[in-house]
Amino acid sequence: MTADRRTVESLLAFWADAGVDLSLADAPQDRMAAGLEALKPKLAPVARFAPASAAAPADSAAEAVDPSVIAEGRALAAAASDLAALEAAIAAFEGCALKRQGARQAVFARGEPNAEVMVIGEGPGAEEDLQGAPFVGRAGKLLDKMLAAAGLAGRAFITNTVFWRPPGNRTPSPAEQAACRPFLERAIALVEPKMLLLVGGASAKHLLQRPEGILTLRGRWFEWRSEDGALALPALPTLHPAFLLRQPAAKKRAWEDLLRLAERLDRAERPT
Ligand code: URA
Repeated sequence: MTADRRTVESLLAFWADAGVDLSLADAPQDRMAAGLEALKPKLAPVARFAPASAAAPADSAAEAVDPSVIAEGRALAAAASDLAALEAAIAAFEGCALKRQGARQAVFARGEPNAEVMVIGEGPGAEEDLQGAPFVGRAGKLLDKMLAAAGLAGRAFITNTVFWRPPGNRTPSPAEQAACRPFLERAIALVEPKMLLLVGGASAKHLLQRPEGILTLRGRWFEWRSEDGALALPALPTLHPAFLLRQPAAKKRAWEDLLRLAERLDRAERPT
């Protein structure tokens, strides 16, 4: 079968969106021809629905992080008295495993240093890794358009749960997010936003320590708390713009979330 050029370009764009930006072999493998047997996972199956435990954190793997790494991150972050110092501290930090997995540079933040809203995504992608700023690729352009349309342009500080690009745009692990968390919490303390917009499941689950998926969490207000409990802010999870690029029909729900956030922000500002 020969595919025309437009079909190939569209397929490549779809893969790039999904994070597939490298090829592992010169020749394609027809996995369908190999039969369904070849697609079955080789690992022992895990229980699909684990029994719910109210006490267990959603991020139990975070417990696997070396406590000295977290302590070092906390000390470095606490010593940063402004955002520029925090950015330098992140760049110097060796405790996140992502730093050694092919990332070109640390990607910290962009936006207003005194923003009312802090937007927290999952982690840098290919374009962010190249440019050194978060949400500057296709998904970021959509995010900017949506923030502007909701009246939030110039009112947001944008960052991620991790500061190095996960290889192949995979989801950052709880351990990688936990290693970066002291810096993210310090950023929140320095910017002092009024609320958080948690973009995508990896961000919402990590920051709220909840097991549910983003389709359940989105559009609902939660209270985010810093690990030491000293800071608390309203937090609204929403759909990730990369997901919206693949599922445009879901834009309506993300739009409702942004309007909810803008409305609460404006309500908080109105004199009583
Ligand atoms: N996706 C994210 O979650 N963050 C970015 O910075 C870019 C894409």
